[in-house]
Amino acid sequence: MSAEDLLGTQGPRKGILLLLSGPAGSGKSTLLRRALSEDRNLVFSISCTTRSPREGETDGQDYHFLSDDEFSKRVENNEFLEHAEVHKWRYGTLSNAVVDILNKGKDVIMDIDVQGADQVRDSKDPVISDALVDVFLTTSDTTELEKRLRGRDSEDEDTFQLRMQTAVDEIKRWRDYTYCILSGNHEEDFKVLSSILATERMRVSRMAT
Ligand code: 5GP
Repeated sequence: MSAEDLLGTQGPRKGILLLLSGPAGSGKSTLLRRALSEDRNLVFSISCTTRSPREGETDGQDYHFLSDDEFSKRVENNEFLEHAEVHKWRYGTLSNAVVDILNKGKDVIMDIDVQGADQVRDSKDPVISDALVDVFLTTSDTTELEKRLRGRDSEDEDTFQLRMQTAVDEIKRWRDYTYCILSGNHEEDFKVLSSILATERMRVSRMAT
């Protein structure tokens, strides 16, 4: 008897929407890249942004780089699951792209800020709300965060202070999330995230119907 016959399941499982937030310097991008490279069932949610591509970034792969007008049109057409302004630029997630992947039974991982996370949590679409697993990644103290942010590039002191303040304000939102990972090293963070995913994948409600 096959597993499908025994369990009486057909059709695809329900995908997870793994929402990852955390301040700059928390190690979020590294963690996300590692998860994507090691987990073949995870698909990256490519956000739209009005900021310019950085060196090494590819349109349609890292972000969909849009003009301000194009972004506004998509807002008017209600194409975004969420959108927000972060550091003077606009960022948003296209609903259709996420829903299509989830409906195929794949898991989506998204890196969005705390304002965007609020909107995803408020989504009335059951495909989104059933799939959502929201995770906050942060260092446990500002000394470590400061060290990581200072190590980044040669910004002037005012810009650095602004980035630190934004990070501290974001950390205050950690209780809004279902899971909070206190960042240790990259290996530990990856292990914790993988175990959250593994556990969430075992939920009966996510298994094929
Ligand atoms: P960066 O410009 O450094 O790639 O990203 C800056 C910030 O924008 C990060 O905190 C990231 O989480 C956030 N961000 C990236 N994509 C989105 C998105 O689609 N929506 C929202 N709300 N924030 C995003």
